[in-house]
Amino acid sequence: MSGDTLFGKIIRREIPANIVYEDDLCLAFTDINPQAPTHILVIPKKPIPSLSEAEAEDKELLGHMLLTIKEIAQQSGLQENGYRVVINTGNDGGQTVFHLHMHILGGRPLQWPPG
Ligand code: 5GP
Repeated sequence: MSGDTLFGKIIRREIPANIVYEDDLCLAFTDINPQAPTHILVIPKKPIPSLSEAEAEDKELLGHMLLTIKEIAQQSGLQENGYRVVINTGNDGGQTVFHLHMHILGGRPLQWPPG
């Protein structure tokens, strides 16, 4: 149930990734092109293409991902100085991989607004 995207291939271990966390519902791995000293992607194992396509039945999964991010951030030493969680959605949102993912960015002060 991992879909036919790059991230589906990572879930199925068909391409390598530096996996930092895994459970029954989601997987987290470091971004191949990091935009901050810590840049981790958290993805559901269910192949939801984007946040726009999440359904009411995904409520628990999405909540689980956010609480997992909190744990990963803590374990990555980001809790004290803070971090940013980003969900790029659709073309204007800058989404390039159409398997829902949450970016965790931290380890330096981040600017606002984004470009
Ligand atoms: P998006 O732009 O869709 O929000 O984010 C996609 C992210 O996936 C980008 O930050 C990009 O660097 C990352 N990415 C693309 N291909 C790979 C890959 O093969 N491995 C890993 N670890 N990250 C990837």
